[in-house]
Amino acid sequence: MKFIVCFAIIMLLLPFPSYGERDESIEGILDEITEELLREYIQTLQDFGPRVTGSIACREAAEYIEAQFEEYGLIVREDNWTYHGYEDINIEATLTGENTSSDEIYIICAHYDSVPGSPGADDNGSGTAAVLAAAKVLSKYKFEHTIRFVTFSGEEQGLLGSREYAAEAYENGDNIVAVLNADMIGYAETNEGRTHVIIEETESSSWITNIAINMSIEYEIGLEIVREPSYPYSDHASFLQYGFDAIFFFEYEFNEYYHSSEDTIDKMDLDYATRVTKLIVATLIELAGLKEGDYENPIVKIEKPHGHLYINNREIIPLPHDSTIVIGKIEIEVYALDNESGIDSVEFYIDGRMVAKDEQPPYQWLWDERALLLHKIGVKAYDRAGNEGYDEVKIWIFNF
Ligand SMILES: [Zn+2]
Repeated sequence: MKFIVCFAIIMLLLPFPSYGERDESIEGILDEITEELLREYIQTLQDFGPRVTGSIACREAAEYIEAQFEEYGLIVREDNWTYHGYEDINIEATLTGENTSSDEIYIICAHYDSVPGSPGADDNGSGTAAVLAAAKVLSKYKFEHTIRFVTFSGEEQGLLGSREYAAEAYENGDNIVAVLNADMIGYAETNEGRTHVIIEETESSSWITNIAINMSIEYEIGLEIVREPSYPYSDHASFLQYGFDAIFFFEYEFNEYYHSSEDTIDKMDLDYATRVTKLIVATLIELAGLKEGDYENPIVKIEKPHGHLYINNREIIPLPHDSTIVIGKIEIEVYALDNESGIDSVEFYIDGRMVAKDEQPPYQWLWDERALLLHKIGVKAYDRAGNEGYDEVKIWIFNF
């Protein structure tokens, strides 16, 4: 009996068993998806005013989306479409897969247009924000297969942009394996709403939902998935029509302000939007196959000169406020560390001009040039995966 009690106590003290095989890199990526990030995207989209297909506001939103994709270093394409008197553009960004023998493509998508009179924060600033957040956080990583981040216009007129896009992909023979569509993912009223999300699927695309369910459990996203049959009311339907497997993420409690002037960010639950976005991104990561590797920037620090008075390369006395004064020549000494792939090289800069490169530790360079008054020493350390770290120090120097 005593033994059983002890055993029970020990079991209680042990940490909870984790589900499946949780990947630390994936956890790190999901942590980068924050409420603040989504708020910025959604607020910006809302501030353009109603993004009616063909309007200036819609085009401004497209340009904003394009600028974000470009900032994240993705390959960006404007995809013009016309249909029965309507015309506008879809914006596509591509993160090419590392596996050159794979032609598989995985798509995360959302429509960015809204109906007349509606600022479209939830419909569909929320889904567009999910695509932008995915692009921002995933662009720093490498994947086996190709990921496309796509935002459509013309959705509110009958899925026009996505239909043209899917038709073109079909004609090109693109091997689109799975499509994750997000449309209205940021509204919840009750605790039940906050803990559930709908995924619309077909028989052939339900395998993608299975992955989403696993990811929600494994990464404790706090969303129970409610499977529903697919209705042709958002852009995933365009892909299904052309035989591509697609699912649709949709808030559990319907936003009563949708298609009205009151579809604004203050009516939304951004914590909920953040968790749904994490769920979609986690599913996408699992599909596209995250490549293990070194994604961390190296640590780099100028150890000398720093916070002292130096005369002819000799440290004399510490100075207050980390200030640094150098008289005569100075050996710049750098601490650089990279725990994954290791340090490749360290570059030395004076006032932004590269003056030396060192590929062997200890990383140092003797600066003995005529220099007077205030100057900036910068150092860049690269690891073998191409990530970089930077440090700089401003010094007063008197080297005649
Ligand atoms: Zn919508």
